[in-house]
Amino acid sequence: MARINDNFQKLPGSYLFSKIAHRVADYKQLNPQSKIIRMGIGDVTLPLCDAVVKAMEHATEEMAHRETFRGYGPEQGYAFLAQTILDNEYATRGVSLETDEIFISDGAKSDTGNIGDILGLDNIVAVTDPVYPVYVDTNVMAGRAGNLLENGHWSNIVYMPVTKDNGFVPELPQKRVDVIYLCFPNNPTGTTLTKAQLKKFVDYARENEALILFDAAYEAFIREKDVPHSIYEIEGAKEVAIEFRSFSKTAGFTGTRCGYTIIPKTVIAYNEKGEKVALNRLWNRRQCTKFNGTPYIVQRAAEAVYSQAGKEQVRAQVDYYMGNAKIICESLQAAGYEVFGGVNGPYVWTKTPENMNSWEFFDYLLKEKNIVATPGVGFGPSGEGYIRFSALGDRDNTIEAMKRLD
Ligand code: PLP
Repeated sequence: MARINDNFQKLPGSYLFSKIAHRVADYKQLNPQSKIIRMGIGDVTLPLCDAVVKAMEHATEEMAHRETFRGYGPEQGYAFLAQTILDNEYATRGVSLETDEIFISDGAKSDTGNIGDILGLDNIVAVTDPVYPVYVDTNVMAGRAGNLLENGHWSNIVYMPVTKDNGFVPELPQKRVDVIYLCFPNNPTGTTLTKAQLKKFVDYARENEALILFDAAYEAFIREKDVPHSIYEIEGAKEVAIEFRSFSKTAGFTGTRCGYTIIPKTVIAYNEKGEKVALNRLWNRRQCTKFNGTPYIVQRAAEAVYSQAGKEQVRAQVDYYMGNAKIICESLQAAGYEVFGGVNGPYVWTKTPENMNSWEFFDYLLKEKNIVATPGVGFGPSGEGYIRFSALGDRDNTIEAMKRLD
């Protein structure tokens, strides 16, 4: 008898964004004339920049000729891209890494979701609340999360609330934990940690033999000085942290798919005998078995992000989105809303008015203003009473949506 992984059945039925899509579709069916502006899902809207497109075209041409055609590439990614990333993203910030400490992938969702493959099932996992749902759901699938409680938390997961009350800075876990997921700049709140705030987590991990899984998918949106772009800017992090990055939001690769994971060879965890094991080796083994590499064309496209033209063009795109974020923040504030984030990240986390809950405010925005935003509670119980606006949309639509809130 073929048996399923019963953990999958513990997952609540509907994924947040499909629930939103259904509500919007139902409304649209009843109100076909309505011009709905979508500020919900965090997808980019600008096309790939010229430098990237040219590199893709060139790589496609290479694939069309016997002499330059490429078949399977290295599972870890091509050295040309690995070295370019290390030179541009890390060496420039004083972080020295070798090319066998970076693993190119098809994006940060896969990597943050799959990293649990190399970690024991008895680890106690900590996440922020609210949180990017992938960290929690993949731990549910693996069997690390326990059972879903009435308050929306999982019995074996340790939650670190990030709310207005603590300035969106998580406190260290109350109970000893083994694995800590951190995402800064944060999705969904758009807020960040300073170096000093992040250092507390690195110190905690070092003192407690814990591992930090640091998701830096939004680092390109950082504007303020004291905000770390990489966790390796923090002393001691190279022994306790894995970092995930993505070209999705940075360079408009949500549909093109490329990201990478950094696992310094010094990052260790423990086997059943309590001996140290390098996680780099385990992840390499995992990738070689389960992943056959990011397409050559896509890796050449990602490389072009770091050409002189690419850097300028990608920077202009990020500036455009952060221009949207500014418009959203200022308009919401002018309309009397309390807003957070939007300064170092492309999300604006807004307090719902008049004690409405997240879904009530979602319905109000949809029905009265024809705007779609994402209910904060969908990211965890501490997101109740908030809604997330994405700044990754089109400028004219962003302006139009904000006018409707006057
Ligand atoms: N990590 C965070 C925090 C995200 O918000 C997202 C996408 O929304 C991802 C990772 C996924 O990125 P990718 O497109 O590289 O899979």
